[in-house]
Amino acid sequence: MDCLFCRIALKQTPAKLIYEDDECVAFEDIAPQAPVHFLVIPRKHIPTTLDLKDGDEALIGHLYRVAGRIAEDKKIAGRGFRLVMNTNPEAGQSVYHMHLHVLGGRRMHWPPG
Ligand code: AMP
Repeated sequence: MDCLFCRIALKQTPAKLIYEDDECVAFEDIAPQAPVHFLVIPRKHIPTTLDLKDGDEALIGHLYRVAGRIAEDKKIAGRGFRLVMNTNPEAGQSVYHMHLHVLGGRRMHWPPG
């Protein structure tokens, strides 16, 4: 199995890493859709939200906590930011390794496109 985000987590493919720990890695999105746009991914290869298993709950909670801490570091937390996890084609998922988008630094629109 060849997965781009697994390779980034293993540092086999370069990316602008922001944060890493035993469970997850965060890096800048290569095609930012907002002044701040980074991704938080589990090291574990989980293709989509639908592939979560019993026992993955804490991992997903951890991704959210890391996202919030980085948003604070980047000074976008108080203004507001958006967390997005696209699932399957109609939602626009293009990389099948779960990832939390963190977008901020501008006003977000609702409903999303
Ligand atoms: P999604 O379309 O929700 O699956 O999101 C995938 C995201 O990964 C997109 O926002 C891409 O811009 C981003 N992306 C793809 N390749 C890379 C890469 N090599 N480094 C950083 N971000 C990437």
